[in-house]
Amino acid sequence: MSSTLVTGIGELVTNSYPHPVDNYSAQQDPTSAGGSNGASDSLGLLHDAAFVIDEGRIAWLGPANSAPACDEQISVDGRAIIPGFVDSHAHLAFAGDRAAEFAARMAGTPYTAGGIRTTVAATRAADDDHLRANIRRLVTEMARQGTTTVECKTGYGLTLEDELRAIRLARTECDATTLLGAHVVPAEFADRRSEYVQLVAGPMIEACAPYADYVDVFCERGAFDEAETRTILTAAKAHGLKIRLHANQLGLGPGVQLAVEFGAASADHCTYLDEKDIEALAGSTTVATLLPGVEFSTRSPYPDARRLIEAGATVALASDCNPGSCYTSSMPFCIALAVRELRMTPAEALLAATRGGAQALNREDVGHLGIGARADFAVLDAPSYLHLAYRPGVPLVHSTWKNGREIARVGPPFQ
Ligand SMILES: [Zn+2]
Repeated sequence: MSSTLVTGIGELVTNSYPHPVDNYSAQQDPTSAGGSNGASDSLGLLHDAAFVIDEGRIAWLGPANSAPACDEQISVDGRAIIPGFVDSHAHLAFAGDRAAEFAARMAGTPYTAGGIRTTVAATRAADDDHLRANIRRLVTEMARQGTTTVECKTGYGLTLEDELRAIRLARTECDATTLLGAHVVPAEFADRRSEYVQLVAGPMIEACAPYADYVDVFCERGAFDEAETRTILTAAKAHGLKIRLHANQLGLGPGVQLAVEFGAASADHCTYLDEKDIEALAGSTTVATLLPGVEFSTRSPYPDARRLIEAGATVALASDCNPGSCYTSSMPFCIALAVRELRMTPAEALLAATRGGAQALNREDVGHLGIGARADFAVLDAPSYLHLAYRPGVPLVHSTWKNGREIARVGPPFQ
């Protein structure tokens, strides 16, 4: 494989701090002027920088005027480059949509976990090719918006066969896979829910384990309670699987505490947190993954990101792309929401959407552009990452690169 020099970069976000190159100091981020800003310092912002891609990784990074000769050279004509988004929470293995339910919700019908059953019926009825095509369509849509790493959950099959089918498809199409057999109790088990919990904790986890990185439970009133969640998480650990949890989305509950107790990679949603939840997250390696597209799409109160950040918790942002509570695949949109509605700074939001997501997926090779990292990045049709929140709804991603190769192109050819 030949080496490629990427140059002409207006602003480079490396997320690598301290700065990757000795004696190469970063320009000040305008958002940090006049005060310390942990997140914008952590962005490792560089101007007049260039980098070299070799074997799909960042092989060199430094001032453009001292860049080594390479086999190929690309100038991005003054555009900003950011690490590719790491979308650590998405439900892509489904069929059908629920646009009518969304319209009803906007007209005043409240959101409940039960709507999931509509998608379960459509997903069970779909054939493998249809499900695979839907996952591919959404992963492509994500790539066009700068996402380079995608986590995909099951949870719309809810039989051993249908969950196994979904996790196998997710394994071939996505970067990280999560078994969410405990999404909701399917209608046919409504009167025997303990049998369903035993099915998930027993044969389902056993059959799906070879294709799953994580096991997730929707630990919420109307879904799975604390005892049921414990049963499933204990089985997951016994099979060597890692944990992530849907926690505290619709109200206070045991989800966050369980996530921390079980050493989960991430507690997702975190919309309703008491002091003990905040303390637990801040004192653990469990990432608090915020999904503001859900609150937007269900017209619900947003989580308190400032409280989490100020307590010292690691925060990630993800799309929660799913046909029910949030059908966006756009990380730039989630960043705009995080800045406007969660009061995160633009730097905190970008960091959460890249390095935060990588931490939530136990990945050290993505979410930053330090030397040795995967060459996964997005070129923006903008001079600065600030435009992601400053220009909401505008398709700013020019092109998206994964392992050093262009996987999506929206903007014009480089000059
Ligand atoms: Zn979710």
